[in-house]
Amino acid sequence: MTNEELWQTVLAEVELNISKANFITWFRNTGILSKKDGQILISVPNSFTKEWLGNKYNDCILKTLHRIDSGIKDVQYVIEKPALKSTPVRKKTSSFAEQDFQLKFKETDKETNLNAKYLFENFIVGPFNELAHAAASAVSKSPGEVYNPLFIYGGVGLGKTHLIQAIGNEVIKGSEKKRIKYVTSEKFTSQIITAIRNHEVDQFKAKYRGIDILIIDDIQFLSGKEKTQEEFFHTFNDLYEKGSQIILSSDRPPKAIASLEERIRSRFEGGMIADISYPDTETRMAILKTKSLERNIELPEEILNYIASNVQKNIRELEGALNRIIAHSRLTNRIPDLETTKNLLKNLIISPQKIITPKKIIQAVADFYDIKERELMSESRKKEIVRPRQIAMFLLREEIKSSYPFIGRRFGGKDHTTAIHACEKIRRETQGNNGFLEEINLIRQRIYSL
Ligand code: ADP
Ligand code: MG
Repeated sequence: MTNEELWQTVLAEVELNISKANFITWFRNTGILSKKDGQILISVPNSFTKEWLGNKYNDCILKTLHRIDSGIKDVQYVIEKPALKSTPVRKKTSSFAEQDFQLKFKETDKETNLNAKYLFENFIVGPFNELAHAAASAVSKSPGEVYNPLFIYGGVGLGKTHLIQAIGNEVIKGSEKKRIKYVTSEKFTSQIITAIRNHEVDQFKAKYRGIDILIIDDIQFLSGKEKTQEEFFHTFNDLYEKGSQIILSSDRPPKAIASLEERIRSRFEGGMIADISYPDTETRMAILKTKSLERNIELPEEILNYIASNVQKNIRELEGALNRIIAHSRLTNRIPDLETTKNLLKNLIISPQKIITPKKIIQAVADFYDIKERELMSESRKKEIVRPRQIAMFLLREEIKSSYPFIGRRFGGKDHTTAIHACEKIRRETQGNNGFLEEINLIRQRIYSL
């Protein structure tokens, strides 16, 4: 194996384990300079990359190298400016050969924080996200006028970030100049905390006041943070009153966000709420086909079918599986057959017979309601605890047919009648209350993805 091939293999492996943006940032213009006595010299373009690879990715790089060639014991990074090289720079690695594709991963825009790769054009629409897409599209055509706020919710990896950023990117294309800002709720929260600490709340407010379109991602993280909620509420109102568009995403509907202030919740509910559910098989196939076309590779129906029928609940994982196949094809210059595909995806694909345990259910419920597992098991009669506890009991009964005495015991030695009562109560509530059923289903999704 040449140094070039060796590095390609490492890159292909690393690419699977880190985000694309990071991959591009840190592994562009890197290569193996030499390999001698178990030591590998890797050329990097600048000191920043050197430090970063050495600190953050060294383990991963070394492990991969070692797996391929157990004689390799050490890695060093050497700065080499590609432009100053006299000897021909190594050929483009296969991963970076996909220039068009990579162009989309330009860094996020400094001003708006939007990533240019998230567009309506590459967002695939199916029954599962039709409503959310239609609403997003309408908002992009007349921001501040149709649905305000727009609230998109759904499970992990189903396209929320893509969709809400697409709105921003679409508006940018228009002729009218608008000030757009995308921020995650974690970032928003940390900005608020810093502002409060440094007595700069006014500057913070001023920064957001001039915005025409504010996009906040993963709003569920605001839950429980009082000060942040307070500032968020003021920002929200300021913007809303002057007709700015607000776009929010969350992993659950507003009413299921624990300890969200009522006035904020009702503000959310005053706009448009749209969900993204799971893509059906046809859409999963369409997504795979489009994404492989984007990458200039044609994969046989059989392979796509295998991926589509085995990765069902997460579009990010669907993409990840596809990436793995593509990396392998580029590396070996061959399209893998079904057996190889199965092998390559072995640890990505969760077998449907995954075992659900009481522990997983309890974990998922506690996590969903943002409480501690031991609170769930406690004697506490607090409403915020009692209800999740009843829901957990109900799910133990429904999902794994636990006996009532077992359920009682599992929750801190309670009587089986307590368990019966809880299960009956929650079952009754799910009947004829779609909102609540949806909430339960979101928890189920989590249980099955644990
Ligand atoms: P979420 O924010 O809901 O966790 P993301 O928006 O990050 O999910 O989506 C995960 C990945 O799947 C992204 O790479 C995104 O581009 C892709 N993706 C999600 N939904 C679609 C879709 N409908 N069409 C094309 N790509 C999608
Ligand atoms: Mg997201």
